[in-house]
Amino acid sequence: MNPVLIVGGGIAGISLAHALLDRGIDFRLVDDGKNACSSVAAGIVNPFSFRRTLLTWNANPFFAEALDFYQSVAEKLETTFHTPIEIRRVFTAPEEPITWERRRIDPLFSPFMLPSVSSDTAWGPYGSGRIRGFWVDAACFIRKNHRFFESQGLLLRKSFDTKDFNETELMYQKETYSKVVFALGYRNKELPWFKDVPVQSTQGEVLTVRWQNKDERTSIHRKIYALPIGQQHFKVGATHKWDTESLVPSEEAKKELMAKFEILTSDIVEVIDQEVGVRPTSPDRRPFIGQHAEIEGLFIFNGLGTKGYLTAPPLAKSWVEYLLTQVPLEKCVDPYRFLGT
Ligand SMILES: Cc1cc2nc3c(=O)[nH]c(=O)nc-3n(C[C@H](O)[C@H](O)[C@H](O)COP(=O)(O)OP(=O)(O)OC[C@H]3O[C@@H](n4cnc5c(N)ncnc54)[C@H](O)[C@@H]3O)c2cc1C
Repeated sequence: MNPVLIVGGGIAGISLAHALLDRGIDFRLVDDGKNACSSVAAGIVNPFSFRRTLLTWNANPFFAEALDFYQSVAEKLETTFHTPIEIRRVFTAPEEPITWERRRIDPLFSPFMLPSVSSDTAWGPYGSGRIRGFWVDAACFIRKNHRFFESQGLLLRKSFDTKDFNETELMYQKETYSKVVFALGYRNKELPWFKDVPVQSTQGEVLTVRWQNKDERTSIHRKIYALPIGQQHFKVGATHKWDTESLVPSEEAKKELMAKFEILTSDIVEVIDQEVGVRPTSPDRRPFIGQHAEIEGLFIFNGLGTKGYLTAPPLAKSWVEYLLTQVPLEKCVDPYRFLGT
């Protein structure tokens, strides 16, 4: 089989690259380094959607597969990227602790839930609950993976040049590929082939603060999160804006995040960094994965939304299985589901 060409080296493209590598399929990765999402992410892998005390889509298989993925990439690259954490949900309404206790006896939820301890009640007016999770040092993960693939001659650090691509032959810069997969994140609209797939942009900002909080194992979540990243540094995020793709940090976002953070603690903290990214989202919160409507061999892998660090590794594995066995992907990820084609 000719190699696969992956365009876009965020968490989506990197997950695809490892899934291909693991199955012995040759590939090339093209990335222009203008990453404004995967490197900025807090990298929290949280199987819960706290607002309604539900699990996120496919949380049970995806969480375990994501954990395996980060462990296996860490072994390949002889380093480590992920750290186990407890995720504390501070309840925001009187009925939430009741729902929480009901979930505790549900076998789908219970593997993630940690036993109650007396200190859980000390948070907010309604108490709190804790689950298992982990976080990935996202910027380091992207940087080291790019270096890894570059050292093997598999990464081209360039923008994809449409002039060098023959879509009928699947030929790019004189090399013929068996498949070409576009994993461009929110910049999907910059290339012509999947413009009709409604990848939306949700801009987000995140702060890094220095906080003398001795509990550096627990990420605290109430409207925002405060994720410990070591040495009394915490990521505080994130905002969600649908009307801008600006990559310039704003005073407005900083104020919004700090106002929510101050509900969690009256401690004085020092803001030491502020970053911006744009998430590739979809109207129904499901990704877009599938073949072009007319051009065989051309694929999209996008729309990972707010949970790319959880969903990209298992979805990439499924996509490679699909290539090898033709086992169809779930219908809900069909890129054309909104067009009815
Ligand atoms: C503030 C913030 C916090 C977040 N926190 C979390 C979190 O805690 N946990 C979590 O799971 N998710 C989080 N996310 C979401 C997560 O970051 C996304 O789901 C994920 O990064 C999307 O990855 P992607 O690879 O699809 O897109 P991207 O990361 O945008 O990658 C696309 C890549 O394609 C490249 N590219 C684009 N066009 C071209 C071209 N023409 N030629 C060559 N290369 C090209 C870009 O340079 C980029 O490297 C967060 C996002 C933000 C903004």
